[in-house]
Amino acid sequence: MNTHPKTVENLVIGGGPAGSMLAMQLADAGRNVTLLEKEHGAHHKVCGEFLSREAVEYLHQARVAPSDLGAAPIHLVHLSSGRVVAEAALPFRALSLSRYVLDAALLARAQQRGCEVRRGVKVERLTAQRDAWLIELRGGESLSAQTVFLASGKHDLHGWARKGGEQTNLVGFKLHLQLAPAQTEALRDSMELFLFPCGYGGLSLVEGDVANLCLVVRRSRLRKLGGWTELLAAVLAENPRLRRFLQSATALWERPLAVSPIPYGYLALRPCGLWCVGDQAAVIPSFTGDGMSIALHSAVLAAQMYLAGKTADAYNCKLHTQLARGMRLATWLSRAMVTGPGRSLAPLGLALFPGVMGWIAASTRIPEEALLFPPEGPGPQPAVQATRSA
Ligand SMILES: Cc1cc2nc3c(=O)[nH]c(=O)nc-3n(C[C@H](O)[C@H](O)[C@H](O)COP(=O)(O)OP(=O)(O)OC[C@H]3O[C@@H](n4cnc5c(N)ncnc54)[C@H](O)[C@@H]3O)c2cc1C
Repeated sequence: MNTHPKTVENLVIGGGPAGSMLAMQLADAGRNVTLLEKEHGAHHKVCGEFLSREAVEYLHQARVAPSDLGAAPIHLVHLSSGRVVAEAALPFRALSLSRYVLDAALLARAQQRGCEVRRGVKVERLTAQRDAWLIELRGGESLSAQTVFLASGKHDLHGWARKGGEQTNLVGFKLHLQLAPAQTEALRDSMELFLFPCGYGGLSLVEGDVANLCLVVRRSRLRKLGGWTELLAAVLAENPRLRRFLQSATALWERPLAVSPIPYGYLALRPCGLWCVGDQAAVIPSFTGDGMSIALHSAVLAAQMYLAGKTADAYNCKLHTQLARGMRLATWLSRAMVTGPGRSLAPLGLALFPGVMGWIAASTRIPEEALLFPPEGPGPQPAVQATRSA
């Protein structure tokens, strides 16, 4: 190990949306900032790749325009459970863009704005010292930093594991597919959400008319079924609508990406002087499609509070207060969706209560008054109807 670690002023660990956004904000304010990302180049991540209105607004603030990167628009949501299907117009404008493209664009922006980006550098250990942090890297190098922003997302550092997720028994999968031309057209402008025994998922187009299939399932059910192939077969067997979309589809990867555990419902409140952003601060269940907006929001909030001379603990408390209510509801709903009664009631509820979709969206998102970009006028109201699929 290096006996005299190099000193850096501000260190960001992780180059996902949270880390890149934070690094950009600090660099814009004239601060020296170094970002470490363990992957050597652009890479895929398990994600539904749905960009909510808030995420899109924050990206524009970072001068990253998802539409210029080929993002696909989403106006409609279909929710299916077995043979029952409900349709709702989204109460806001949304987009869908692969994480491969989005994360690379954000990181490139951070670099352009003056941040030192070191790729292929993995942090092995982080230790609080009296007045600085010691960061040990794979390969033996070490750094000393005055301030550390932890943006390592789904991955916990040794000794800094997130504890206390509320729903931790799910496994996440994602696969990119090329659908048949007619199915690509049928999917255009919409998001297919589907519920199945012990899980739920989504299908939508990203850039280049590629379809992204992403789902979560209880670990116990996956084990019982045997694996991904059996799981997908079981999901398609009971959902004719999804089966139609995927018939004649070609998988673009040999096997799907997987992630587990996912600490849904985790909301950090650790008084440790460490600035935790993105999934290291809060992990909202993925059906809300709000994880990236929280990642970007937490990064902007942390940067603003840090630059204003506030402490990491004050930031942590503020973010916790902003997100607690939405997180509780989203986690409750996510738990309900993987139970039998919840699954059969969801499309019916959507059909019976026009506006429930808008209410869920509004109640699980970052409160409007907490957002750090100018407010927008009211979006289109959701129009809801239920049908039985043939
Ligand atoms: C199944 C599923 C579906 C989802 N769908 C959606 C969706 O549709 N829309 C949405 O908005 N959100 C969704 N999310 C949530 C979203 O993916 C996350 O909230 C978001 O990625 C968080 O961003 P981040 O920057 O905190 O972390 P990440 O995007 O995970 O980035 C962290 C980065 O840190 C790097 N890193 C990790 N450890 C180290 C280390 N030791 N040293 C150096 N670098 C390191 C990683 O390589 C990575 O690039 C979903 C999540 C799951 C699990």
